[in-house]
Amino acid sequence: MSLLTVGSVAFDKLETPFGKTDKIVGGAATYITLSASYFTNKNNLVAVVGGDFPEEMIKIMQDKGINTDGLEVIKDGKTFFWSGRYHNDMNTRDTLDTQLNVFENFNPQIPTNYQDCTYLMLGNMVPALQHTVLKKLNNRPKFVMLDTMNLWINIANEDLKAVIAEVDCLTINDEEARQLSGEYSLRKAAKTIMEMGPKTLIIKKGEHGALLFQGEDIFFCPALPLEEVFDPTGAGDTFAGGFIGYLAKTDDISFENMKRAIVHGSAMASYCVEKFGTERILSLKQEDIDARVAQFKNLAFFDL
Ligand code: AMP
Repeated sequence: MSLLTVGSVAFDKLETPFGKTDKIVGGAATYITLSASYFTNKNNLVAVVGGDFPEEMIKIMQDKGINTDGLEVIKDGKTFFWSGRYHNDMNTRDTLDTQLNVFENFNPQIPTNYQDCTYLMLGNMVPALQHTVLKKLNNRPKFVMLDTMNLWINIANEDLKAVIAEVDCLTINDEEARQLSGEYSLRKAAKTIMEMGPKTLIIKKGEHGALLFQGEDIFFCPALPLEEVFDPTGAGDTFAGGFIGYLAKTDDISFENMKRAIVHGSAMASYCVEKFGTERILSLKQEDIDARVAQFKNLAFFDL
């Protein structure tokens, strides 16, 4: 089934305890679509970049089967820029700089050939824009997932709640779930957030895995304990791309299949953090993914 992803395509500048990068390609939609490309070849992107964005990267995305008809290139504009520094625990980070550039006036246009998408991933961006995308589709997709961040919970709370009310699944981290719900217990937070609209909620806990909630059902998927985490940037988006890509591939949104999807998303994220930026997820093979999924199975499943 076809997947449409809307979100940032960016330049990132990163600092981790392992080193620094110059400007490298990043962005939520970049990680989501690259990750999803291992599951679906109907992988459509809507985003905006400036004339400074490398054409080679667009070509690489196309070679991965990503449809870039909806990637607007503003020749005399500059690409969205984000810079972050990770703390020693690699789970927390500070944003050092955000330059919206062409993203500031982004007016997402949905190409006609994307209109019939079955799965929609609204990557992290201004909530009002996420809502606009939903309204611009002639038919509501079968499954709509949304990612957001603490910034929007703080400065665009009403807009965020308005779009959250219309999606099927929300993915946020534990800190954001507490902030959005006003509850410390993640179980209570999940209940409160699901009452806001989404039937399904994923709470990401970084190196401590992810929780999947739906009604009274809960599933937990651990993160793979890795010897080295090099750069966590994009792990959440890579996870989301693997999750929704797997759902699009199997076209099954039952809770049982979401369990498999969350494991595939976690496997993709575990690769993402092994190198800086998109480097590792660009070079994966199907057998790498299968091997990691098998490792997850061995890690967490047992007979009683
Ligand atoms: P993640 O590590 O999964 O939370 O996502 C990191 C990516 O999010 C980076 O590649 C950034 O370019 C992108 N990003 C950071 N801040 C924003 C923002 N305010 N809006 C959209 N994308 C952002």
